[in-house]
Formats: sequence, C-alpha cells, structure tokens
Amino acid sequence: MSTTTPPLHRQTSQTSAPTTSQKTAHRVRVEFAGQSVEFGGPGVVVIAGPCSIESESHLLNTGREIASLGAVLLRGGVFKMRTNAASFQGIGEPAFEFLPRAKSAIGLPLVCEVTDPRQIEMMLATVDMFQVGSRNMYNYELLKELGRTDKPVLLKRAFAATVDEWVNAADYVVRGGNDRVVLCERGIRTFETTTRNTLDLNAVAWLKAHTSFPVVVDPSHGTGRRELVIPMALAGIAAGADGIICEVHPVPDQALSDSAQAIDFKMFEELVRKSRAVAASLDRTLAVLEKGRA
Ligand code: PEP
Ligand code: MN
Repeated sequence: MSTTTPPLHRQTSQTSAPTTSQKTAHRVRVEFAGQSVEFGGPGVVVIAGPCSIESESHLLNTGREIASLGAVLLRGGVFKMRTNAASFQGIGEPAFEFLPRAKSAIGLPLVCEVTDPRQIEMMLATVDMFQVGSRNMYNYELLKELGRTDKPVLLKRAFAATVDEWVNAADYVVRGGNDRVVLCERGIRTFETTTRNTLDLNAVAWLKAHTSFPVVVDPSHGTGRRELVIPMALAGIAAGADGIICEVHPVPDQALSDSAQAIDFKMFEELVRKSRAVAASLDRTLAVLEKGRA
C-alpha cells in the first residue's frame, strides 16, 4: 500500500489475511422524507432506474414501477459523462424543477451523479445520495468538496483503477469530513471484448474482507449487455455485495443512453425475485425503506 498513514475504514495491516472472511461494515444510511435505507447491514439494497432521466413522465413511469417491484433507491443521471460529445448529455439543470415533485410521487430517495463541484449546491436539496462516476473517481477536488457535505456518496471505481487507488479516492471524501461512503464496482477495462467491461467480483470480496466500506455491484455497466445483468447481479450478491444498482427502462431499446444494458420491468421483477433468494441463502434479506429512522 502506498500511503504511510492508514486511511479510515482500512485495516492497518494490508499484507496479513484477516481472521474472519468479512470485516464489520461501516453502515451508511440514505434518508428521504422521514424514511431511510441502510447500506452495510443485513439487507441488500436494490437500486434501480434509468441511465439518464429523459423527462418527468419517463422518470415517474419508471420510478413507480420499480418501487412497486422492490427497488428502495432510485437512480437516474441528469449530467451525463458521455464518451462521445455528440451523444445525449442528460437534461441537466432543468431537471431540478420537476425532480422534487417526481421523487415525492415515486416515494423513493434518489442517487444522482454529480460531475462537477459547482453542481453540488444546486443538487443538495434534491439528491439524497451523490454518485461519483467512473470517469470522475480521480477528481480529487470533487471528492474533497463532497467531503464537506453530509450526504452519502456512491463512489464508482474508475474503469482502470486498482482497488488501492479506489480506496484512496474514498479516503479523500472521508478525510474531508464525510464518512458516509459506499463503493461501487462497475467493471474494469480488460483485454476482453465480448462484454463492455469485466465485472471484478474479486474486488468486492476483497473490499468486504479488508475494509469496512459497504460495497455495491453494478451489473449493468459491468457487462454492458442486458442478458448478463441478472446473473451478474446474483453473482455480486453471492460475492458479498451490500447492494446492486441496475439500469431499467420501460422500453430498453429506446433508452437515450446505455440502451444495450437496460432491462425492462419484467426482467427487473425476475432480478428482484432471484436476488431475494440468493440473499436468503446467505442469511440476508433485501433492504427495505424504514420509517422513522431519518
Ligand atoms: C451511470 O451510472 O450511468 C454511469 C455513467 O456509470 P459509470 O460512471 O460507472 O460509467
Ligand atoms: Mn449508464
């Protein structure tokens, strides 16, 4: 390990194997309207929603359906970090006019990607968990600024980051004063081309054994192919993940971003049903939104 002072949440001795297979997770609670959901407890958190929020009606339609099927946290991008500058960049700031209304109608907290420190203030009132995307994992000024907030942060792994670099990135938020960090494995770039990325489940098991961060698995970006989303979500839970995040769209082929990896409501229903069974086999449950804990 490269740092001399052991960062928070990390074992002081990285070279020796831990004496149990799992460290006790630091619990991170996401709050919304007098309710909350917890990462790092016995419940596996199911996060779902569109890659990009396309309109108010699109969000309402998707959000209501996934909430009824078992999602406890809504995802949706407003500022998109697209590889191609000509691709849909997200609807941006105008979304914040309808987001509070849509969230109340859906009844779920929202995790939304922040791509620039200048967006934080505008997002604070509406977003319940900040997502830092893969392309921004090394944006230390953004991480430091999120450390000055008290909102939970979902920190995605950069597609070419080592686990050590990723944990160090998390420490920027923690040392900034905010220890409500959840790590998200979303696949790394390898020589393999059949899938968009290679979902590194070794990293999930390693983080659970050696750090106390809750860990989420993203089988959507981790594979890039909708037929692989359910099996890899289940594999993620089997590897010890505290949550899964997946992209769902009413008509996947029409999604304005990441359509090849979007699943429809029927597949999402199957994902939740099978996730519950895998969680139960590990003496876990699927997390619920609890009243009165916020
Ligand atoms: C996303 O969640 O839609 C996204 C862009 O993810 P990533 O940063 O992992 O590519
Ligand atoms: Mn996406």
